[in-house]
Amino acid sequence: MKKIFSGLLVLSSVLLLTACGSDKKTDSSESAKTDKTSETSDVTSAASAQEYTDPSELKDSYDVVIVGAGGAGMAAAIQAKEAGANPVILEKMPVAGGNTSKASAGMNASETKFQKDQGIEDSNDKFFEESLAGGGGTNDQELLHYLVDNSSAAIDWLDSMGITLDNLTTTGGMSEKRTHRPSDGSAVGGYLVDGLMKNIHEREIPLFVNADVVKINEKDGTVTGVNVKIGEEEKTVSSKAVVVTTGGFGANMDMVVENKPELKGYVTTNQAGSTGDGIKMIEALGGQTVDMDQIQIHPTVDQTKSLLITEAVRGEGAILVSQEGNRFFNEMETRDKVSAAIIALPEKSAYLIFDAGVKERVKAIDFYEEQGLVKSADSLEALAKEINVSEDNLQTTVETWNKAVADKKDAEFGRETAMDNDLSKGPYYAIAIAPGIHHTMGGVKINTNTEVLNTENKVIPGLFAAGEVTGGVHGNNRIGGNAVADIIIFGRQAGTKSAEFVK
Ligand SMILES: Cc1cc2nc3c(=O)[nH]c(=O)nc-3n(C[C@H](O)[C@H](O)[C@H](O)COP(=O)(O)OP(=O)(O)OC[C@H]3O[C@@H](n4cnc5c(N)ncnc54)[C@H](O)[C@@H]3O)c2cc1C
Repeated sequence: MKKIFSGLLVLSSVLLLTACGSDKKTDSSESAKTDKTSETSDVTSAASAQEYTDPSELKDSYDVVIVGAGGAGMAAAIQAKEAGANPVILEKMPVAGGNTSKASAGMNASETKFQKDQGIEDSNDKFFEESLAGGGGTNDQELLHYLVDNSSAAIDWLDSMGITLDNLTTTGGMSEKRTHRPSDGSAVGGYLVDGLMKNIHEREIPLFVNADVVKINEKDGTVTGVNVKIGEEEKTVSSKAVVVTTGGFGANMDMVVENKPELKGYVTTNQAGSTGDGIKMIEALGGQTVDMDQIQIHPTVDQTKSLLITEAVRGEGAILVSQEGNRFFNEMETRDKVSAAIIALPEKSAYLIFDAGVKERVKAIDFYEEQGLVKSADSLEALAKEINVSEDNLQTTVETWNKAVADKKDAEFGRETAMDNDLSKGPYYAIAIAPGIHHTMGGVKINTNTEVLNTENKVIPGLFAAGEVTGGVHGNNRIGGNAVADIIIFGRQAGTKSAEFVK
């Protein structure tokens, strides 16, 4: 990279751009042109220098064009370069990272060296079965097997590049600690994106921002490159392969409502660039889509700023209580079930209740506190007053819960995980939450080589896709931590396979 267009971005407060509210305009070209770096995000990593290639350096031709600079795109680029190809990444937003920057809980993987070091007995079979059960048995089983069987290698690959995810926690629907996060328990996304960016720079892979890909070109059924709007110009960039890693469509309310009308009016946790462009461009080439109506709502979303409250809060011991101050469900059930239980409450919202121990174990809570989302008090009684719930009920709820933790038996709701620590260390905390749009499980159909299939299940030559733009692997409900696994594992595969294709 000869010339570099650089900007210092303090990721902890400014990096990625939440589409706050359901009616927010998320038109892609407008998003790309607007400097939104003053908006808030739930990224909690340290300050980071992000550097991008100067627009004047864009060439007419590359081996592989990668569309979208989230985790899947960056993993694909690094792997394609390692395999000897000459890739470029085109990103429509003013910063790289996509929804990946916002990922908080961690990355699921089984039979990893970190699990073994910590005495956690896990197996790929168990990871597969629990993901399949979480997805209602509707997952594409070939893709899921590929994900599970390559998860440990993906953790090693990241570690070999200085991205070490050795702190383990649990997410809903998983029976083992297999959610891998940074050593200090901080959010995975910012740390991962910083680490991938560093490796992109070290390998001198060009990455252009404000580069909105508007069309994938083909000749006689074979992909030949893309058209990209960069600055005021639309340019044609030719390539022997195109890897589409544009993420999901959780910030495109029209597309969400078209596929699942009952979600009209919900807030979204997604960054503004998650507008489904890749799906539309691939459909225009005859590509097949699957599970488009499978859109996940996440149970714990702050409704004032549309900020996701990470599942790690429950994974490290928090409980959910209603406005009456009572627990009402197994907090560690899968997201679809916990969301449904909250929506069934008269107030359609709830509180996450936790203590100082949970706060110490989940660094992201410091960020939620900075954002003014966390109520705190020295005693449960005072906390109850603060959030206007019955003091007696809250006190009894927490006492009953602490006894369940001591006995390792939750007689009320049958919770079995995230019961290592009780809630007995003041001060106490509460965060008000309700469900919000979070993940689009549907997308374009790929095979385990990440080749995109057309409506006749035939490969579209030269076209690859990975990450949230694809559908099938998660079935009808994604397990927390499985999307980061998806983007790294299939991102790597897309890099390798596209490089093989162009040789
Ligand atoms: C708040 C939040 C927390 C989450 N926490 C977790 C977690 O802890 N664990 C987990 O497993 N999953 C988590 N997820 C889900 C996970 O982060 C995403 O599914 C995953 O990061 C998607 O990665 P990706 O690379 O496919 O897409 P993204 O990271 O979204 O990247 C896609 C990129 O493509 C760009 N793009 C789109 N269209 C175009 C175009 N036309 N031209 C050029 N560029 C384009 C986008 O701007 C974006 O930068 C979370 C999601 C959110 C929103």
